[in-house]
Amino acid sequence: MKKVLAFDIDQTLNVAKTPITDEIAELLTKCLDKFEVCPISGQKFDQFLIQIVNRLPNPTPEQLSHLHLFVAQGTQYYRFNTLKKDWEQVYNYPLTNEQVAKISATIEQAAKELGYWEEDKLKPGDEIIENRLSQVTFSALGQEAGTEEKYAWDPDHKKREQIVKRCKELAPEFDYEIGGTTSINAITPGMNKTFGMTHLLEELKVEKSDILYFGDMTQPGGNDYPVVAMGIDTITVRNHEDTAFALRGILGVI
Ligand SMILES: [Mg+2]
Repeated sequence: MKKVLAFDIDQTLNVAKTPITDEIAELLTKCLDKFEVCPISGQKFDQFLIQIVNRLPNPTPEQLSHLHLFVAQGTQYYRFNTLKKDWEQVYNYPLTNEQVAKISATIEQAAKELGYWEEDKLKPGDEIIENRLSQVTFSALGQEAGTEEKYAWDPDHKKREQIVKRCKELAPEFDYEIGGTTSINAITPGMNKTFGMTHLLEELKVEKSDILYFGDMTQPGGNDYPVVAMGIDTITVRNHEDTAFALRGILGVI
Protein backbone atom coordinates (compact mmCIF):
# COMPACT_ATOMS: atom_id res chain seq x y z
CA MET A 1 0.00 0.00 0.00
CA LYS A 2 1.15 3.54 -0.65
CA LYS A 3 2.33 5.50 2.40
CA VAL A 4 2.40 8.98 0.86
CA LEU A 5 -0.16 10.87 -1.18
CA ALA A 6 1.51 13.85 -2.85
CA PHE A 7 -0.42 16.55 -4.67
CA ASP A 8 0.18 19.41 -7.03
CA ILE A 9 -2.13 22.25 -5.86
CA ASP A 10 -3.34 24.49 -8.72
CA GLN A 11 -5.90 22.62 -10.85
CA THR A 12 -5.28 19.42 -8.88
CA LEU A 13 -6.68 20.30 -5.44
CA ASN A 14 -8.44 23.55 -6.31
CA VAL A 15 -9.45 25.97 -9.00
CA ALA A 16 -6.12 27.74 -9.56
CA LYS A 17 -5.21 30.17 -6.74
CA THR A 18 -8.45 29.65 -4.78
CA PRO A 19 -9.12 27.78 -1.50
CA ILE A 20 -9.98 24.08 -1.78
CA THR A 21 -13.65 23.06 -1.70
CA ASP A 22 -15.37 21.61 1.38
CA GLU A 23 -15.30 18.22 -0.32
CA ILE A 24 -11.54 18.24 -0.96
CA ALA A 25 -10.95 19.60 2.58
CA GLU A 26 -12.91 16.71 4.08
CA LEU A 27 -11.22 14.10 1.88
CA LEU A 28 -7.72 15.41 2.68
CA THR A 29 -8.49 15.39 6.41
CA LYS A 30 -9.55 11.75 6.12
CA CYS A 31 -6.34 10.99 4.21
CA LEU A 32 -4.32 12.37 7.17
CA ASP A 33 -5.47 9.40 9.26
CA LYS A 34 -4.09 6.89 6.74
CA PHE A 35 -1.27 8.57 4.80
CA GLU A 36 1.43 11.19 4.89
CA VAL A 37 -0.10 13.99 2.78
CA CYS A 38 2.27 16.21 0.81
CA PRO A 39 1.07 19.18 -1.24
CA ILE A 40 3.92 20.41 -3.47
CA SER A 41 3.50 23.57 -5.51
CA GLY A 42 5.24 26.67 -6.77
CA GLN A 43 3.24 28.83 -4.38
CA LYS A 44 4.33 30.61 -1.21
CA PHE A 45 3.82 29.29 2.32
CA ASP A 46 1.00 31.73 3.15
CA GLN A 47 -0.97 30.45 0.16
CA PHE A 48 -0.61 26.86 1.43
CA LEU A 49 -2.26 28.05 4.66
CA ILE A 50 -5.00 30.05 2.92
CA GLN A 51 -5.81 27.49 0.24
CA ILE A 52 -5.40 24.23 2.16
CA VAL A 53 -4.56 24.21 5.87
CA ASN A 54 -7.11 26.80 7.00
CA ARG A 55 -9.83 24.99 5.05
CA LEU A 56 -9.44 21.63 6.85
CA PRO A 57 -12.40 20.99 9.19
CA ASN A 58 -11.02 20.99 12.79
CA PRO A 59 -7.87 18.93 12.18
CA THR A 60 -6.17 17.56 15.31
CA PRO A 61 -2.45 18.25 15.92
CA GLU A 62 -1.90 14.51 15.30
CA GLN A 63 -3.58 14.81 11.88
CA LEU A 64 -1.59 17.96 11.04
CA SER A 65 1.63 16.11 11.92
CA HIS A 66 0.94 13.96 8.83
CA LEU A 67 0.63 17.03 6.56
CA HIS A 68 3.90 18.11 4.94
CA LEU A 69 4.04 21.38 3.01
CA PHE A 70 6.52 21.41 0.13
CA VAL A 71 6.49 25.11 -0.72
CA ALA A 72 7.94 26.69 -3.91
CA GLN A 73 8.24 23.28 -5.64
CA GLY A 74 9.68 21.78 -2.49
CA THR A 75 12.63 24.13 -2.23
CA GLN A 76 11.12 24.98 1.17
CA TYR A 77 9.66 22.38 3.55
CA TYR A 78 7.33 23.06 6.51
CA ARG A 79 5.95 20.57 9.01
CA PHE A 80 3.66 20.90 12.00
CA ASN A 81 5.32 20.94 15.41
CA THR A 82 2.80 19.26 17.71
CA LEU A 83 4.43 20.66 20.88
CA LYS A 84 4.47 24.28 19.71
CA LYS A 85 1.23 23.74 17.78
CA ASP A 86 2.65 25.71 14.90
CA TRP A 87 4.32 25.24 11.53
CA GLU A 88 8.11 25.17 11.41
CA GLN A 89 10.41 25.52 8.45
CA VAL A 90 12.69 22.52 8.09
CA TYR A 91 14.78 23.78 5.16
CA ASN A 92 14.91 26.59 2.58
CA TYR A 93 16.97 27.00 -0.62
CA PRO A 94 16.35 30.59 -1.86
CA LEU A 95 17.56 32.20 -5.09
CA THR A 96 20.16 34.98 -4.77
CA ASN A 97 19.10 38.62 -5.35
CA GLU A 98 21.17 38.64 -8.57
CA GLN A 99 19.35 35.57 -9.88
CA VAL A 100 15.96 37.10 -9.06
CA ALA A 101 16.88 40.35 -10.86
CA LYS A 102 18.19 38.54 -13.95
CA ILE A 103 15.14 36.27 -14.24
CA SER A 104 12.70 39.15 -13.72
CA ALA A 105 14.35 41.27 -16.41
CA THR A 106 14.48 38.30 -18.81
CA ILE A 107 10.81 37.40 -18.52
CA GLU A 108 9.73 41.03 -18.79
CA GLN A 109 11.79 41.52 -21.94
CA ALA A 110 10.51 38.27 -23.53
CA ALA A 111 6.86 39.03 -22.74
CA LYS A 112 7.19 42.63 -24.00
CA GLU A 113 8.85 41.56 -27.26
CA LEU A 114 6.03 39.08 -27.92
CA GLY A 115 3.26 41.51 -26.97
CA TYR A 116 2.20 39.49 -23.92
CA TRP A 117 3.08 42.04 -21.24
CA GLU A 118 -0.44 42.86 -20.00
CA GLU A 119 0.38 45.56 -17.47
CA ASP A 120 -2.73 47.53 -18.44
CA LYS A 121 -4.95 44.63 -17.31
CA LEU A 122 -3.57 44.46 -13.75
CA LYS A 123 -5.64 45.37 -10.71
CA PRO A 124 -4.14 48.23 -8.63
CA GLY A 125 -1.15 47.04 -6.58
CA ASP A 126 -0.99 43.70 -8.38
CA GLU A 127 2.13 42.53 -10.20
CA ILE A 128 3.04 40.24 -13.08
CA ILE A 129 6.35 39.02 -11.72
CA GLU A 130 6.55 37.76 -8.16
CA ASN A 131 9.64 36.76 -6.19
CA ARG A 132 8.72 33.53 -4.40
CA LEU A 133 12.21 33.20 -2.85
CA SER A 134 13.10 29.84 -4.38
CA GLN A 135 11.60 30.73 -7.75
CA VAL A 136 10.38 33.72 -9.73
CA THR A 137 6.87 33.43 -11.10
CA PHE A 138 5.34 35.19 -14.10
CA SER A 139 1.55 35.44 -13.88
CA ALA A 140 0.40 37.04 -17.13
CA LEU A 141 -2.63 38.79 -15.61
CA GLY A 142 -1.28 39.17 -12.07
CA GLN A 143 -2.33 37.37 -8.90
CA GLU A 144 -5.75 38.96 -8.55
CA ALA A 145 -7.25 38.38 -11.98
CA GLY A 146 -10.55 36.53 -12.27
CA THR A 147 -10.54 32.79 -12.92
CA GLU A 148 -12.42 32.96 -16.22
CA GLU A 149 -10.15 35.68 -17.51
CA LYS A 150 -7.14 33.51 -16.61
CA TYR A 151 -8.51 30.39 -18.27
CA ALA A 152 -9.17 32.33 -21.46
CA TRP A 153 -5.70 33.86 -21.66
CA ASP A 154 -3.66 30.84 -22.79
CA PRO A 155 -5.72 27.63 -22.80
CA ASP A 156 -3.41 25.85 -25.28
CA HIS A 157 -0.16 27.09 -23.59
CA LYS A 158 1.00 28.61 -26.92
CA LYS A 159 1.69 32.09 -25.54
CA ARG A 160 3.68 30.73 -22.63
CA GLU A 161 5.62 28.33 -24.87
CA GLN A 162 6.73 31.33 -26.95
CA ILE A 163 7.73 33.29 -23.85
CA VAL A 164 9.67 30.29 -22.50
CA LYS A 165 11.46 29.84 -25.83
CA ARG A 166 12.57 33.49 -25.85
CA CYS A 167 13.61 33.38 -22.16
CA LYS A 168 15.81 30.36 -22.89
CA GLU A 169 17.57 32.39 -25.60
CA LEU A 170 18.02 35.39 -23.31
CA ALA A 171 19.03 33.57 -20.11
CA PRO A 172 19.66 29.87 -20.76
CA GLU A 173 21.14 29.34 -17.31
CA PHE A 174 17.65 29.10 -15.83
CA ASP A 175 14.79 26.63 -16.33
CA TYR A 176 11.27 27.83 -17.19
CA GLU A 177 8.16 25.74 -16.52
CA ILE A 178 4.57 26.30 -17.49
CA GLY A 179 2.11 25.92 -14.60
CA GLY A 180 -1.37 26.96 -13.45
CA THR A 181 -3.39 28.87 -16.06
CA THR A 182 -1.24 31.94 -16.82
CA SER A 183 2.04 31.16 -15.04
CA ILE A 184 5.63 30.45 -15.84
CA ASN A 185 7.95 29.46 -13.00
CA ALA A 186 11.63 30.28 -13.41
CA ILE A 187 14.11 28.33 -11.34
CA THR A 188 17.73 27.33 -11.28
CA PRO A 189 18.19 23.98 -13.04
CA GLY A 190 17.13 21.06 -10.91
CA MET A 191 15.12 23.26 -8.49
CA ASN A 192 11.87 21.82 -9.80
CA LYS A 193 9.60 19.14 -8.38
CA THR A 194 12.45 16.63 -8.74
CA PHE A 195 14.26 18.61 -6.04
CA GLY A 196 11.16 18.70 -3.84
CA MET A 197 10.30 15.05 -4.30
CA THR A 198 13.91 13.97 -3.69
CA HIS A 199 13.89 15.88 -0.40
CA LEU A 200 10.48 14.44 0.42
CA LEU A 201 11.95 10.94 0.07
CA GLU A 202 14.74 11.89 2.50
CA GLU A 203 12.64 13.78 5.02
CA LEU A 204 9.85 11.18 5.21
CA LYS A 205 12.28 8.24 4.89
CA VAL A 206 10.20 6.58 2.16
CA GLU A 207 10.89 4.98 -1.24
CA LYS A 208 9.59 6.22 -4.58
CA SER A 209 7.29 3.21 -4.72
CA ASP A 210 5.61 4.37 -1.46
CA ILE A 211 4.31 7.53 -3.17
CA LEU A 212 1.23 8.20 -5.27
CA TYR A 213 1.30 11.66 -6.92
CA PHE A 214 -1.60 13.66 -8.35
CA GLY A 215 -1.02 16.42 -10.92
CA ASP A 216 -2.64 18.17 -13.89
CA MET A 217 0.51 19.16 -15.84
CA THR A 218 2.16 15.78 -16.27
CA GLN A 219 2.97 16.24 -19.97
CA PRO A 220 6.61 16.89 -20.97
CA GLY A 221 7.34 20.57 -20.18
CA GLY A 222 4.60 20.74 -17.57
CA ASN A 223 5.49 21.45 -13.96
CA ASP A 224 4.38 17.99 -12.79
CA TYR A 225 6.42 16.18 -15.42
CA PRO A 226 9.62 15.95 -13.31
CA VAL A 227 7.70 13.70 -10.90
CA VAL A 228 6.64 11.38 -13.76
CA ALA A 229 10.22 11.36 -15.06
CA MET A 230 11.46 10.18 -11.64
CA GLY A 231 9.35 7.06 -12.01
CA ILE A 232 6.88 7.92 -9.25
CA ASP A 233 3.36 6.53 -9.74
CA THR A 234 1.23 9.42 -10.97
CA ILE A 235 -2.44 10.06 -11.51
CA THR A 236 -3.10 12.75 -14.11
CA VAL A 237 -6.20 14.80 -13.29
CA ARG A 238 -8.01 17.52 -15.23
CA ASN A 239 -9.24 19.30 -12.12
CA HIS A 240 -10.03 18.89 -8.42
CA GLU A 241 -13.19 16.95 -9.25
CA ASP A 242 -11.09 14.17 -10.79
CA THR A 243 -8.90 14.24 -7.66
CA ALA A 244 -11.94 13.99 -5.38
CA PHE A 245 -13.20 11.05 -7.42
CA ALA A 246 -9.86 9.24 -7.11
CA LEU A 247 -9.56 10.00 -3.37
CA ARG A 248 -13.05 8.69 -2.68
CA GLY A 249 -11.98 5.46 -4.40
CA ILE A 250 -8.72 5.23 -2.45
CA LEU A 251 -10.39 5.92 0.91
CA GLY A 252 -13.22 3.55 0.04
CA VAL A 253 -10.98 0.57 -0.53
CA ILE A 254 -8.74 0.91 2.54
MG1 LIG B 1 -1.18 22.33 -11.50
